[in-house]
Amino acid sequence: MLKLWYNLTSIATLGSHCALQVLKGAKDEGFKTVLICEKKRERLYRRFKFIDEMVIVDSFIEITEKKCESALQENDSILIPHGTLISQMNSEQIESIKTPVFGNKYILRWESDRMLKEQLMKEAKLNVPKSISNPKEISNLVIAKRHGAAGGKGYFLASTEQEYNKKRDQLIKQGLITGDDDLYIQEYHSGVLAYLQFFYSPIKKELEFFGVDKRHESDIDGLSRIPAENQLNTDTISSFNVIANSPLVLRESLLDDVYTMGENFIKASTKLVSPGMNGPFCIEGVYDENANFHTFEFSARIVAGTNLYVSGSPYTALNYDEPMSMGRRIAREIKLAETKNELKNITT
Ligand code: AMP
Repeated sequence: MLKLWYNLTSIATLGSHCALQVLKGAKDEGFKTVLICEKKRERLYRRFKFIDEMVIVDSFIEITEKKCESALQENDSILIPHGTLISQMNSEQIESIKTPVFGNKYILRWESDRMLKEQLMKEAKLNVPKSISNPKEISNLVIAKRHGAAGGKGYFLASTEQEYNKKRDQLIKQGLITGDDDLYIQEYHSGVLAYLQFFYSPIKKELEFFGVDKRHESDIDGLSRIPAENQLNTDTISSFNVIANSPLVLRESLLDDVYTMGENFIKASTKLVSPGMNGPFCIEGVYDENANFHTFEFSARIVAGTNLYVSGSPYTALNYDEPMSMGRRIAREIKLAETKNELKNITT
């Protein structure tokens, strides 16, 4: 009898971040779709007919609890991790998830921990801005960032130790941090910010460049609209809170380096975090005046910037004769793995 793969496996994700794109892509590839949805968002997600089943929870943390696990098990689900999973759960909780997680759930620990992150980026020969371990060493413009997927909220710029201390104390007062240990200080690089989106298939042993986006961050992006004399009179700390994304297309001469960065990242993650970087990931940084890329960050899973390309990007259009979103590409990989009996090679 013909084995129907879509009766065997469903695709599940948390209701936030890029859930719509992921589940639409899964539906386009013929899968049953399952959304783990917080009560407060139920009304929103009920609007989308491609969501077949909802598991309603009070909080996403319930994903490790029996009720949620059983629902996912009954549906034979594969869970697609995204930024919300990382921001709401710690690494131990993520690693304890019993449902098969698409990609490598162990690399998410390396994404959340700034020191591990720096180690992996350096192993990948990426050009990483210098980190500063002691605020006393601040001599140029630096950015102080919170650990984890904070989405840029509570980040700040400083040019001197005094300025750093003043802003740090303000954030402590606001309850956003408790002290220096909550901050990672890095040299600030000015230029064109770019978030490079990739997909790696361990089955096809192929790296695909999926697209580029830029982020709109509040309220730092608003500063350019305020004249310098007014900026000097304000005491508020600008934040880097991501509000939206818009598309970018790179100069074609930059593409060769983009692929090299992606390939080096895959090699480094295979060496440091078995089974390596499978599925979607993003290398994030800034092109300087000489078109050199400084990588300040990576995301070891799908990023929300891919939501731009639900109908495909200028780069996926070169490789596919149909609209290919990242969500759909993930579903296609699951399909491919299932037909080749290799699901264990693309999940952890
Ligand atoms: P991250 O959490 O590392 O993605 O940083 C959030 C935002 O801070 C980025 O989207 C950039 O706008 C900014 N940023 C972070 N690191 C740097 C850096 N080293 N130089 C310039 N901008 C940065």
